[in-house]
Amino acid sequence: MQSIVVFGATGSIGDSTLDIIASHPEKYKIYALSAFSQLEKLSLLTQKFCPKVLILPDENALKTFKQIHAGKSCQPEIRLGQEGLCTTAQDNEVDTVVCAIVGAAGLKSAYAAACAGKRILLANKEVLVSAGALFMDAVVQHNATLLPLDSEHNAIFQCLPAENPKKYLQKVIVTASGGPFREKTLAELESVTPEQACKHPNWSMGRKISVDSATMVNKGLEVIEAKWLFDLSVEQIEVVIHPQSIVHSMVQFIDGSLLAQLGHHDMRIPISYALAYPERISHNAASFDLLGLSRLDFMPPDFKRYPCLRLAFDALKEGGGACTVLNAANEIAVENFLQKSIRFTDIAKTIETMLEQITIPSLNHIDEVIAFDKVVREKTRHHLQSSMRG
Ligand code: NAD
Ligand code: MG
Repeated sequence: MQSIVVFGATGSIGDSTLDIIASHPEKYKIYALSAFSQLEKLSLLTQKFCPKVLILPDENALKTFKQIHAGKSCQPEIRLGQEGLCTTAQDNEVDTVVCAIVGAAGLKSAYAAACAGKRILLANKEVLVSAGALFMDAVVQHNATLLPLDSEHNAIFQCLPAENPKKYLQKVIVTASGGPFREKTLAELESVTPEQACKHPNWSMGRKISVDSATMVNKGLEVIEAKWLFDLSVEQIEVVIHPQSIVHSMVQFIDGSLLAQLGHHDMRIPISYALAYPERISHNAASFDLLGLSRLDFMPPDFKRYPCLRLAFDALKEGGGACTVLNAANEIAVENFLQKSIRFTDIAKTIETMLEQITIPSLNHIDEVIAFDKVVREKTRHHLQSSMRG
């Protein structure tokens, strides 16, 4: 019986994870759930899974939750904030931590899980973008197990041999759908709305990652994620546009063989693989019908259409701190775009400006990364406010 913590339980990845867990009560039990908002949903999940611990953001959320959840039969211990997340990640009774918080807000708790040597199922790619080297060091040093939930990385993980994965590897090919604006003219991109950006053609996801997919900074974040997960050089990572999202990524070996993982675009497939690894389990995602496929297209990405992808490659070449800037500036720009205070095309411009303006310090400790991330956020907000005034 695996005892599992789900950080970000009310989100899209949380939904898919809990759906699989609910269909295998003989294998998995929920130890803790965290949520930042949607407290009614958290109350329902609490009744369904009866965890020992819940983690809420603050006293206000606690007050609201107590009202919503009054009189219910399952009354877990409630912990608060980043400290609540970190202590829960390290509890002795916990085997597996599913990191499905969005953004660098998930960094500290994922790092705590690594330091406690847990089995980590990582969806929260911003952890590896912001603090890849330090996080991977913690995983190795504390003998944690790191399994990728991101569909592309899960596909690569499935295609690589378990022993000596890099021995005959030439490169990995990360596929990208191209997002909802793949066929718009560059001029049309200026006026796309948050609602349009959040309507992904293939996947239903949280708002931030939906916008990231539309700008393709998501693919840039995934290139950085792949670098750290599989210890690759920048030259070993290629991105191709594949609008059908059926091939989730590929691995090419020195003998010219190319292995791919195919399946529906349903996150329950990669999540179930990581949950059960090295075994496999069934779940509620539809099975794959090869004869239902009409075609698979692949094309190179256009950096003019997707400047954020180029910025991510540049940041990765520059080094760790530049990736922290890329991530934090993007989070603030996306927030502003979702609030309709900047245009879609301003997201890339904002990241580029912040990468140019900010001097990168050496970051040798996770707390230094968190402090620097905060500085970048403040500078990005300031930059956006002054450019709006101007
Ligand atoms: P979501 O917005 O649907 O859910 C995010 C979860 O994090 C929610 O439970 C929310 O309450 C919590 N949260 C938000 N802000 C928080 C904060 N400041 N502190 C603590 N908790 C907070 O997002 P999602 O689509 O489930 O994505 C989660 C992560 O998984 C992201 O990093 C995303 O890039 C990654 N991911 C998602 C998908 C997908 O299909 N949705 C695929 C691959 C990777
Ligand atoms: Mg992905």
